Amino acid sequence: MNPLTLQFAPAAAIPVHLIGEVQSKLAYVDERIAKAQISPAGDQISLELKRAVPTAEQAVIEEKVQRVVVSMAQGAIRPKVQVLEDYLDRPTPFAGDPMPELLRRGELSREANGIYALGPLLSHLIDWFERRFLGLAESFSAQPYRFPTLIPAQYLERVGYFRAFPHSLSFATHLREDLDQIDAFAAGAACDDHGNLNVPLERFAPIQTLLSPAVCYHLYFTLADQTLSPQGITATAVGNCFRYESLNLQSLERLWNFTMREVIFVGDKDFVLENRELARQRMQRVFGEIGFAYRVESANDPFFIGEFRKQAAFQSAFQLKYEIRARLPFKDGTLAVGSYNYHQDFFGRHLNIRLPDGSPAHTGCVAFGLERIAFAFLAQFGFDPTQWPSSMQEILP
Ligand code: 5GP
Ligand code: ZN
Repeated sequence: MNPLTLQFAPAAAIPVHLIGEVQSKLAYVDERIAKAQISPAGDQISLELKRAVPTAEQAVIEEKVQRVVVSMAQGAIRPKVQVLEDYLDRPTPFAGDPMPELLRRGELSREANGIYALGPLLSHLIDWFERRFLGLAESFSAQPYRFPTLIPAQYLERVGYFRAFPHSLSFATHLREDLDQIDAFAAGAACDDHGNLNVPLERFAPIQTLLSPAVCYHLYFTLADQTLSPQGITATAVGNCFRYESLNLQSLERLWNFTMREVIFVGDKDFVLENRELARQRMQRVFGEIGFAYRVESANDPFFIGEFRKQAAFQSAFQLKYEIRARLPFKDGTLAVGSYNYHQDFFGRHLNIRLPDGSPAHTGCVAFGLERIAFAFLAQFGFDPTQWPSSMQEILP
């Protein structure tokens, strides 16, 4: 048997801008990995294992890690980061980590990894931001929608989600319609010490449904095979979203189950791009009024290993995604609390949504992560409401 830590050099140099992306993917390489770290220079990989592993098996783990490294880092070119707004150095009154205090106050109750119940303070903060997001939606006369938490597997297949983000999928199923199976489940179902249900997989129906990873997809599917009217569609909705993040799940910064508010635009290219830009300018005013410290910069989605290089380069070349990155003073870092997205005619083509002239519609969305924005606010302004922006002090009863 061998030590619990494996250390080796990456097969290809990992450029500094990719360290976070590659490191987060190492969580999915092997179930025996408890923690994966890449050195700040990108020249050393260190894996903590859950238990000792024979040498031959260590080689298997290392080979899988090197596959990730080569696929994501070899020949990667650093995209030019475009900064549209930079207010990161706005002075804010707090510098602590909100997590311990939130847990101590019972404001956060951890149900499982990446799954939390939120108390009144966080709920009031989220309501305050929700009112601003609804104000943004109203400024576009966006129509309200309500979408399910579940999404058919066929929907996600049709828009290539399985290939792009297989690692973060969450599946939903139910017991098969069979009295013997249901009776056996009812009589014997129990969880072991790890929280695993002792039920054989054959007892479950085939998977046709997943937990939805995004809000706007549901709107695009309601529009499938239709021709839009000339004024296009502007919609808003809030919903539960699910992205399984394995070892990367930590604090409110990264949840398996989180809520997203979106404002969604469907129309021609100019309509979508102009509204996306207008939304950014309107939110700039909202964030300015409370003295929020953040910047808006170009970004890419966390595509899975094999898809990453091509897709990320494509998003960057066509300026498809900008993130609102809030400052987290306690870790001298930033957290994406929202994004301004343009999908070109991707959904229009795949779902046959047409403009009046018969060409595929373009889509875009503005998305805010509600737990993250409340978390970032507390990280910057703390728990003493007298230190908060005056417009927010009234939110507490
Ligand atoms: P996007 O569609 O840009 O990936 O996600 C939109 C927003 O949802 C992000 O900017 C972020 O605020 C939120 N979000 C995405 N993934 C997570 C996550 O794992 N945890 C939490 N708490 N929020 C997330
Ligand atoms: Zn969206």
